[in-house]
Amino acid sequence: MPKIGVLAVQGDFLEHRQALERIGVDVSEVRLPAQLDGLDGLIIPGGESTTIVQLLDIYGFRDILKEKASNGLAIWGTCAGMIVIANKLTDKRPDPIKLMDIEVSRNAFGRQVDSFEQDLDVTGMEGDPFHAVFIRAPVVTHMGKDVEAIAKLTDGRPVAVQQGHLLATSFHPELTEDTRFHEYFVRIATRGSD
Ligand code: GLN
Repeated sequence: MPKIGVLAVQGDFLEHRQALERIGVDVSEVRLPAQLDGLDGLIIPGGESTTIVQLLDIYGFRDILKEKASNGLAIWGTCAGMIVIANKLTDKRPDPIKLMDIEVSRNAFGRQVDSFEQDLDVTGMEGDPFHAVFIRAPVVTHMGKDVEAIAKLTDGRPVAVQQGHLLATSFHPELTEDTRFHEYFVRIATRGSD
């Protein structure tokens, strides 16, 4: 069973922790870079990306996260977490950590439709469509050639993308009872630690 950490500097890390516990995973909260040691996977939760990046820089996470990601640490960013790990943003702020070959637009659905839910067909996921909850969500505006869109909105915009051991979702699987995305990430982290 892999060891998964949840970045716990800001945002809805508790809900991720509870989802992982429901599927029997050994989970720890990460507040300092040294707590990344020995992990197979890290979840960066939803919240406020500018605050998360600011805190990551204050605690000295930036370089170590890049190093760990290139050495195989599986990383999953949800919502603000997707913004944090992107290579590029269409917005001026924040300066993302640049782990994944995607360009992301923050608050892509504007003020009027800032929250909505949609059922998504996810590549490789068995069973019913995944009920996805979007809250002031980002969207992927460009992806590199090694990135695969595993779920798209009905208008074709990618909202779940994977690049090997890196995963990003615009929506919040931790806010539903459906643990299939958490199981999917645990499988990615397990593969990486072989
Ligand atoms: N809009 C937020 C941001 O830009 C993300 C919202 C969320 O994580 N639910 O950081």
